[in-house]
Amino acid sequence: MRVVSQQKAEKNPAAGMDKKEIVKQTAALLAERFPMRVRLNEPLKNHTTYKVGGPAAAICIPASRAELQEILKFCHQQQAAVYLLGSGSNILVHDQGVDMLVFRLNKCCSEISHTDNLVYAGAGVLVAELVKYCEKHNLAGLDFMAGIPGTVGGALRMNAGAFVGEIGDRVILIDAMTYQGEYLTMKGDKAGFGYRRANHLQDKIMLGCQLRMIQGTREELESAREGYLAQRAAKQPLDYGSCGSVFKRPPGQYAGTLIEKAGCKGLRIGGAMVSPKHANFIINYENATAQDIFQLIHKVQRMVFQQFNIWLELEVKLVGFSDEEEKKVFKPN
Ligand SMILES: Cc1cc2nc3c(=O)[nH]c(=O)nc-3n(C[C@H](O)[C@H](O)[C@H](O)COP(=O)(O)OP(=O)(O)OC[C@H]3O[C@@H](n4cnc5c(N)ncnc54)[C@H](O)[C@@H]3O)c2cc1C
Repeated sequence: MRVVSQQKAEKNPAAGMDKKEIVKQTAALLAERFPMRVRLNEPLKNHTTYKVGGPAAAICIPASRAELQEILKFCHQQQAAVYLLGSGSNILVHDQGVDMLVFRLNKCCSEISHTDNLVYAGAGVLVAELVKYCEKHNLAGLDFMAGIPGTVGGALRMNAGAFVGEIGDRVILIDAMTYQGEYLTMKGDKAGFGYRRANHLQDKIMLGCQLRMIQGTREELESAREGYLAQRAAKQPLDYGSCGSVFKRPPGQYAGTLIEKAGCKGLRIGGAMVSPKHANFIINYENATAQDIFQLIHKVQRMVFQQFNIWLELEVKLVGFSDEEEKKVFKPN
């Protein structure tokens, strides 16, 4: 039986009517069976920090890991494409939406606990909650994550980080599930963590992780968190929808500096704008569409390439875009 992985689904979920019909039928069956957990034709703009994106065939919010497993196995049996959504803070969803069943784990993976300096956080826990929890229990080592508006699952998948570190530095164990609904546990050092990537997590669903923290004091941690939040507020356009940094840092360079030097600050396409405050942020300035943002991303890449011969690699993940569209931003053409 063909495995419908998220990676594959991310690439071209809408390719072919058959897949679309399968997803639609699967969504309808699930909505009948789990009426409290499944909503059909859910607009994804309500689930992304960009506030753009068309509907998913359905959004599914399982109440427990057992229920997630049951639903995933059913989707696999039906060969319906599924997508894992955290807080939607690092994705750009196509205006036409996605022919996929989108899962959120905020109910089934919401636990947080600790024993000594080992913290366990479910994938659906918000990074902000995790930071506050650690602070309350005098546990240091992730305070620099304050202000990252994602979930633990999204942070693992992205190896999110800021200022002085990345979440991967603290991860000892990861509980995950395959897209076929099988549980597995991985050691943190086998996740393939690198700069904004986790190579061996791409084809897995994160359920939670154990993190090794170090002793700190509440006062120090509170002051560190406030300092990081103040730095973000000073440098980032937090009043607008965005995905944070659009582009990864090229080796030895800062994407923001290159974009600014290429004269892109303030550049607009439709309702999307290269932030005048932070050039690596493309913001939803005024009712932008995903297409506005996509076109502006591509324009910035071309302008930077023209001037510096560097093609900026996307940090943001495109969801529901065609292979052809993805190719456009993948390399110069
Ligand atoms: C204002 C702002 C500031 C930001 N600052 C930072 C920063 O300082 N550092 C940084 O690294 N990022 C930053 N980001 C980007 C973003 O918050 C992070 O990448 C975050 O880790 C994404 O988490 P998420 O839960 O929103 O994931 P999503 O955006 O929902 O998803 C991101 C990827 O993770 C996958 N995913 C999510 N959950 C799971 C799961 N349970 N299992 C498997 N795959 C999953 C998705 O399928 C997708 O491929 C910022 C974004 C904004 C809007």
